[in-house]
Amino acid sequence: MSNALSPAQRLTQIINTINEYNYQYYVQDNPSVPDAEYDRLMRELLDIENDHPDLRSPDSPSQKVGGAALSAFEQVEHEVPMLSLDNAFDEDDMQAFEKRIKDRLKISTEISFSCEPKLDGLAVSILYENGQLVRAATRGDGRVGENITTNVRTIANVPLRLRGENFPSRLEVRGEVIMTRAGFVTLNEAQIKKGKKPFVNPRNAAAGSLRQLDPKITAARPLLFYSYSLGLVENAQQPLGETHSSRLAQLSEWGLPLSKELEVAQGATQCLTYFHKIGEQRSQLSYDIDGVVFKVDNIAMQQELGFVARAPRWAIAHKFPAQEEMSTLLDVEFQV
Ligand code: NAD
Repeated sequence: MSNALSPAQRLTQIINTINEYNYQYYVQDNPSVPDAEYDRLMRELLDIENDHPDLRSPDSPSQKVGGAALSAFEQVEHEVPMLSLDNAFDEDDMQAFEKRIKDRLKISTEISFSCEPKLDGLAVSILYENGQLVRAATRGDGRVGENITTNVRTIANVPLRLRGENFPSRLEVRGEVIMTRAGFVTLNEAQIKKGKKPFVNPRNAAAGSLRQLDPKITAARPLLFYSYSLGLVENAQQPLGETHSSRLAQLSEWGLPLSKELEVAQGATQCLTYFHKIGEQRSQLSYDIDGVVFKVDNIAMQQELGFVARAPRWAIAHKFPAQEEMSTLLDVEFQV
């Protein structure tokens, strides 16, 4: 932090640094700093922009999602944008999140939240037409992603055809592609044996494995997919559930995998109980998570709340403290 710089100068400095970190992380799948360092810088940027709204430009990293699609892949335009999530770092942020929602909806009763682990992988959209998997894409910059259909078709738990019959004629399922910790260790041992650079963490390994030009390489990698929302829905044969959690349950009936830790909680206080419970289970889970996500469960309320530039108002990611994640990155760098 430099006291000698004006807010505008410091902002420019931060934006340049974040843009470089984003390129390394989203385009190269090769993070150059721990997430905690990235998050600190992003918070400093948000603080400056909140204190000086005139300095906020439309191309600030605070207004954008992810990174650009790699030109090596065909581009896919998302018919419904794939957004990011706002962050909560402590209990006050969580209480403030619930208060903002209640104020905006002008209600005083407790809000139901869908509570979900925040899987640390790569966001993917999978489109089913008449029950058949026809396209899969990365989030990219939220508007345009990369066509990775042939790679996603190789993931063991992704159904190529939906179960049952009453599915919409076009159904976009969104979720995270992850690599299990055990799979990551095995993959890195093989990388080292072959004299290749090991991956920094399971997220980076999952992203690198999915964005391969040769689907045979992807097929050999231990990837899994877990659904966490619906995108585009056309010609639903039966009314969709009125809550996010019931829609996820419907996806499960159609054969899509869900993470086992899903729950519904009432109000921020129960959400915090969930956060602590999952935090305790974290080291025993088979995959890496970097926090939990809370989403207003009622779809009509979600629609009323809407979105800001890069994230929905009805959801928040409550991140775990980043200590472990930093040591993971440093340990692996040591081995290289
Ligand atoms: P994010 O990872 O904070 O949150 C949005 C993403 O969460 C979604 O796109 C989705 O992929 C994922 N997610 C996992 N479980 C989910 C669930 N149950 N429901 C909905 N979404 C779920 O946001 P982001 O914009 O993808 O990335 C920003 C974060 O990435 C930063 O906070 C930082 O931690 C990390 N990052 C690090 C670097 C670096 O250089 N180390 C650079 C860029 C980003």
